Amino acid sequence: MYEPGYIALYHSGELERRAEALETRLGACYICPRECGVNRLTGEEGFCHSALLPVVSAVCAHHGEEPVISGNKGSGTVFLGNCNMRCVYCQNYQISQDWTGQKSREMDCHTLAERMLYLQDELECHNINFVSPSHFVPQLVRAVVEAVSMGLRLPIVYNTNGYDSIESLRELEGIISIYLPDLRYASDKWAEEFSQAPDYVAHARAAIQEMYRQVGDLVVDDAGLAQQGLIVRHLILPNRLAGSDDSLTWLVREVSPTVTVSIMAQYFPAHRAGQIPSLSRQITQSEYSEVIELIDRLGLENGWLQEAGAAENYLPDFTRQSHPFDSTIDYIK
Ligand code: SF4
Repeated sequence: MYEPGYIALYHSGELERRAEALETRLGACYICPRECGVNRLTGEEGFCHSALLPVVSAVCAHHGEEPVISGNKGSGTVFLGNCNMRCVYCQNYQISQDWTGQKSREMDCHTLAERMLYLQDELECHNINFVSPSHFVPQLVRAVVEAVSMGLRLPIVYNTNGYDSIESLRELEGIISIYLPDLRYASDKWAEEFSQAPDYVAHARAAIQEMYRQVGDLVVDDAGLAQQGLIVRHLILPNRLAGSDDSLTWLVREVSPTVTVSIMAQYFPAHRAGQIPSLSRQITQSEYSEVIELIDRLGLENGWLQEAGAAENYLPDFTRQSHPFDSTIDYIK
């Protein structure tokens, strides 16, 4: 049976050392590429509007991730509040862009560890899936330290926008089993205009290379569940704004031709995108077909292609008490 690396790191004392090293960095925060330099230990907040305690916006079994992540019992998903990006089309904007409202969702690391055990023992999820973790890396490692002592043994998924710092990622080696980063843009101009991340491309590409160095190609078990590896998500944007050709060509050449890719066609002009002409519509059939042809041309064989259409069905609603997603949908085909 697969044993996540964090268990050996816990017993050797290395997991505690990593947590302490990361917590020290909160004193002049450079947890993510923004390098705000604020003292989060004393409650200061930088670009992500997050201080010392993790903001936990929702905890649930998620059935709409890639099949190797969701399996039949669901992915044990922990939605972190706030974000280190400002995507104008963010479908999670209710929790990512409302830092005042999310204050009430702050949770100490011990309670978060208990929630992880709930996902493992009561909901019987296949993994722990941290969504938007980049600005809370120290707190999440601390929660893992606590959770291991309570019996956590599930693989951990790091489900990120890709705007991660190499230094933080290095501290996660052996702790994270499955990296699930977005590769959102190939142009810093669009990354700045639509996500306020003017240096996104270089950081996301370096982060993906570091993730691949740590975990390599996707490995699944006999039941078809992910044990370890990298899955890169690419959301097709209208008007070629995601730079699909550039990004996927880069992946094949600079990461690996065998990399696993999840192509997402669910773009919907959520949040403020309806007021931005180039982002105010869903993708067209020809934009979708263009990416399918690209995948063929590049010889990318590992991964999933989300079917076009029904984008509204994929939108979460974090005001729903029980579950932000309609649990009947299965959005990765
Ligand atoms: S984690 Fe937040 S405070 Fe720290 S560098 Fe990134 S945006 Fe700034």
